[in-house]
Amino acid sequence: MITTSKKITEHFHSSEFKCPHCGGIYIDENLVNKLEQVFSKVHASKCIISSGYRCKTYDIQQNGFAGRHSEGLASDCVYYDENGKAIPSKIIICVANDMGIFGGMAKINDYYVHLDNRSGAKYRGDETRGNANYWTDPYSYFKVTKEEVSKYTHEEVKPDTNVNVFYKVKTKKHGWLPEVKNLNDYAGYENSPIIGLAIRVDKGSIKYRAHIKGGSWLGFVTGYNINDYINGYAGNNQEIDCVEVYYFTPNGIRPYKKAKYKVNDYAWQYDNEKGNGQDGYAGAPGVTATKFQIEIV
Ligand SMILES: [Zn+2]
Ligand SMILES: [Zn+2]
Repeated sequence: MITTSKKITEHFHSSEFKCPHCGGIYIDENLVNKLEQVFSKVHASKCIISSGYRCKTYDIQQNGFAGRHSEGLASDCVYYDENGKAIPSKIIICVANDMGIFGGMAKINDYYVHLDNRSGAKYRGDETRGNANYWTDPYSYFKVTKEEVSKYTHEEVKPDTNVNVFYKVKTKKHGWLPEVKNLNDYAGYENSPIIGLAIRVDKGSIKYRAHIKGGSWLGFVTGYNINDYINGYAGNNQEIDCVEVYYFTPNGIRPYKKAKYKVNDYAWQYDNEKGNGQDGYAGAPGVTATKFQIEIV
């Protein structure tokens, strides 16, 4: 803890953090080092601290409780960009969150942020709404794009090459079940025979088909619409035993990806590959499918 008036880092002096009511200085050097890291990350021209240390008496007067500011672990501040314009708090929060160095982060208003060095349970707040945790992903919560952030950090935005797959099955006993995303769960319920399967991806495209137990392969489908029995799902209301899926990787994504999927507890199948224990499809002819899982890898 720094308790004397001195320069701490290139852009921060301990007197900037002093308690406005008694002038006491008590600030965590580590917190200030992190504020300095944000400073260089966003190529700031200055940072104004509106509140650093608040002695217990003052913090209670202000908030009704003694919080992180009374422990010398917090700072409320606004950063300014290279042109001297205040940087929106939502940008600073996204940058700080990506850096992963603060225990507590909150939006105070459009420009001021609260950053703290607490240990233990994290604080991800929006104090325009109160003192609770309101977000886990600041980009989606504050509606910030990676491109907006890169204007300040000058870092190249890497394209998002993660592909999500969504799917659902119709079982004999329960009808269409809720949609499953990636391997968050499996599609199927209570070992009831699967009689329909619908799959979609959020990038690229897929084709898939089902094999009817004791019957033959149905045609490939590419859609995802349980009301479209022509191209919206695989299946014809009879028990399915095998499934084949093929993933088409879009031009923006390389290396190429594959559908990795399985029926029941049989081995994983990749696209329509054969060899290395793969048959070109998932499942075993003659054995009713009751579980299905897929991800794009
Ligand atoms: Zn004080
Ligand atoms: Zn604060």
